[in-house]
Amino acid sequence: MFDIKSNQCGTRESRLGSFVGYSGSLHEIGQQVCGGCTQEKKRCFSQASGCPSGCALGQLSGINDAAIVHHGPSGCAGTAIGIASTYELLSEALGKKREHFAYTCTDMTESDTVFGSTDNLKDVVLETYRRYHPKAIFIGASCVSGIIGEDLEGILDDLKDEIPVPIAPVHCEGFKSQIWATGFDVAQHAILKYIVKPPQKKTNKVNLIGFARGTAWNACTDLKRLFDIIGVKPTYLLTLSTVEELEHLSEAAATIVTCGTLGNYLAHGLESEYGVPYIRSLQPHGIIGFEDWSRQLAKITGKEAEVEKYLQEEKDIYQPQIDKVKDKLKGKRAMIAMGPGFGSYYSRIVQEFGMELTHISSWHFDKQYEDGQQPVAFKYLVDNSPDIPFSVNDLQNYEYMNILDKIKPDIFLTRHPGSTVWAMKIGTPSYCVYDEYTALGYKGMLRFGNLMLDIITNRSFTENLSKRIRLPYTQWWLQQKPDSLLIED
Ligand code: SF4
Repeated sequence: MFDIKSNQCGTRESRLGSFVGYSGSLHEIGQQVCGGCTQEKKRCFSQASGCPSGCALGQLSGINDAAIVHHGPSGCAGTAIGIASTYELLSEALGKKREHFAYTCTDMTESDTVFGSTDNLKDVVLETYRRYHPKAIFIGASCVSGIIGEDLEGILDDLKDEIPVPIAPVHCEGFKSQIWATGFDVAQHAILKYIVKPPQKKTNKVNLIGFARGTAWNACTDLKRLFDIIGVKPTYLLTLSTVEELEHLSEAAATIVTCGTLGNYLAHGLESEYGVPYIRSLQPHGIIGFEDWSRQLAKITGKEAEVEKYLQEEKDIYQPQIDKVKDKLKGKRAMIAMGPGFGSYYSRIVQEFGMELTHISSWHFDKQYEDGQQPVAFKYLVDNSPDIPFSVNDLQNYEYMNILDKIKPDIFLTRHPGSTVWAMKIGTPSYCVYDEYTALGYKGMLRFGNLMLDIITNRSFTENLSKRIRLPYTQWWLQQKPDSLLIED
């Protein structure tokens, strides 16, 4: 149940009935969702997967003036490596100050697991505040701190006289959920419970929940133009946001997301607790998604006519060029492997290009969001696509290699660099769609179409790589059915 007063939010499995194993088709799972009974499966063998703490603390690390204290062994804090390279460079490029940010770790040891380590945690939180003066401190849990029952909430009272900024426990223990996206919810729960304040006044700001800030292809300029036409200002969340911005999220005119899987918890929480409307449109990827996103956004300020004019101008410029790319991509065969949100968006896009979608695989599957409704983008996909093989797979690359070996698509589109490399090793041209604004609107569609065309046409690197690689997967495995290690729940 959704309850922002609770110390912890439940996992996606318990709150939403989400799962990580399935093999069937798009229409089958669509019908099962409508009938209320999905036939998810378990794996009797699993390779490594992701941990919710990476998503939770990775997201919170985007806040420019907050600090993270990771209460766990130093290995759990490996998340910090990616953060340093991503956000430091981005903040530098955008001229945003980041001197109050810090990511520290309590480096729990074996003796800590026996005797506890709350005193050490307090010391590290105090030292982190003394050195960096962050505007909020998030204490990230780990499997170890969770298993020995460290009382993260218990230290808040002890420290409140010494640290005058919010301290927020983040219950992202890795063992809690098989679905790493639970980490998004856990992070957003901490923001809703400890940071967001009740509204004092209403503003013309729109909370824009996404992964990045539209830096790819300079998409932020295009976004700014759209927001200016509508007459609202975006508050980009969480990347390079500030604690002060987060405190005022309840005063926004609306919340919109670039990915429902990512932003649904916070958007729903702001709507149910503070009445901030959550715009449940398609996401802004591809033309269909961008038009729906823009039109629904325009309704906030009644600027529908202005937005129609803007869309028509964009169409006049880019549609003829998109049509030329479309002619070349028509009939090319694509496989998609992404999170459930982006998987739906990019499955829609490749079909907009007239390509054949040979398989969709989703890192996990959400039957519903917090409001009990089916994700809009998935429903659109089911209603507007032919029946397509559909699987749910939490980055088990051995299954992808089996599927790719059988269907041999012209391109594999994913959102994980590791699986991109594996696809290339088996000879499939591949692209990691890492930036959420890669196919934003008409202009993004043109760029993305050209990019796919380049990848499909210039295959020599992939072919040479695959000829020189000895795969760890034997013919025995490649001849099995890809779902042969999935078992009935
Ligand atoms: S929290 Fe658990 S699953 Fe996550 S990195 Fe640490 S030990 Fe691994």
